Amino acid sequence: MFISDYFMNAVTSILNKNYLNKDDIIFLLKLNEEKGIGKLFCKADQIRQKYCGNDVHLRGIIELSNYCEQDCLYCGLRRGNKSLKRYRMSKNEILDTARRIYDAGLKTIVLQSGEDSWFSKADLSEIISSIKNEMDVAITLSLGERTADEYEEWRKAGADRYLLKHETANPRLYSMYHQRQKLTDRIKNLLQLKSLGYQVGSGNLIGLPHQTTEDIADDILICKELNVDMASFSPFIPSPNTPYENKNAADPHLVFKTIAVTRIVLKDVHLPVTTALSTLYPSAREKALKVGANVIMPNFTPEPYRNYYLIYPNKNRIESVPDEMISSVKKLVNSLGRNIGVTRGDSLKQNRISV
Ligand code: SAH
Repeated sequence: MFISDYFMNAVTSILNKNYLNKDDIIFLLKLNEEKGIGKLFCKADQIRQKYCGNDVHLRGIIELSNYCEQDCLYCGLRRGNKSLKRYRMSKNEILDTARRIYDAGLKTIVLQSGEDSWFSKADLSEIISSIKNEMDVAITLSLGERTADEYEEWRKAGADRYLLKHETANPRLYSMYHQRQKLTDRIKNLLQLKSLGYQVGSGNLIGLPHQTTEDIADDILICKELNVDMASFSPFIPSPNTPYENKNAADPHLVFKTIAVTRIVLKDVHLPVTTALSTLYPSAREKALKVGANVIMPNFTPEPYRNYYLIYPNKNRIESVPDEMISSVKKLVNSLGRNIGVTRGDSLKQNRISV
């Protein structure tokens, strides 16, 4: 046998294992175009088919404020970025946008913002319950770290899910990127959210300075340990006016591999194609949907605000007006032989009671 045959046999035998350990994950993340990557992608697609079927779920995002009290070194919304024009949407603007998402047929509304305590516990409860009273949708919150009391109140008001990425499972890197924050606090928040009955999403940023393949393997494994309902693996894109403005952007191929490996390791989990991946790689949605992803998150934030939610640059390049975007997403999904999900697309975990 040629050496390459031995190598391909090794890829096949890892992909046939029921349990992948950290070394297996690192091995798969290092596969390249010539060597075995096709097998990895094919296996991920089979597992996606088995656990998620052909539905692609759409989640409509409203970016309600770009004010942020945190100072994450990679993020364009960091409070140290004095050149960003800041905004907050009014309650009416948020409700109007929620109606547009609902009228477009989407069954999940994601409320995202920087960490902005100007929106109080009561403000957000009111927004959540107004949406839930009027529309038959699931609500995902993505508002950063808030108190357990706030999480509890918003859950009571009707919030179903919470997206809080752990960003990196390496405590040393976490403290480097976030300075005042600790990984243990992030994990504590995720556990609180789970115990309150939220469906929880976590995930990382790929390509941040000093990150290794081993770190990415740990990011996948921490999502497994937390038994998350959704995992968002997204590329880092350097943002102007941040300490990391001159760093390199992530390699999008590493993100596709991470999505594929995560599908194989986590199985019954929602995996989105992020806007950041589409910003870096023009046909990202098609490619990611073929290698394990099953969720797309179209942005409905209205003008002019969408131009100011600059976590990273050129974010709007891939985002046309919502109506055109939704019809092009539907076309793409159908061309792949898949369907737009007609349900809320709740957790895929068997033991979860959907609410
Ligand atoms: N403040 C909230 C949500 C808003 S930030 C929170 O902290 O959870 C949403 C996500 O944007 C973050 O989780 C982070 O992973 C991502 N992000 C931040 N800066 C980025 C960059 N430069 N490139 C790509 N993604 C970035």
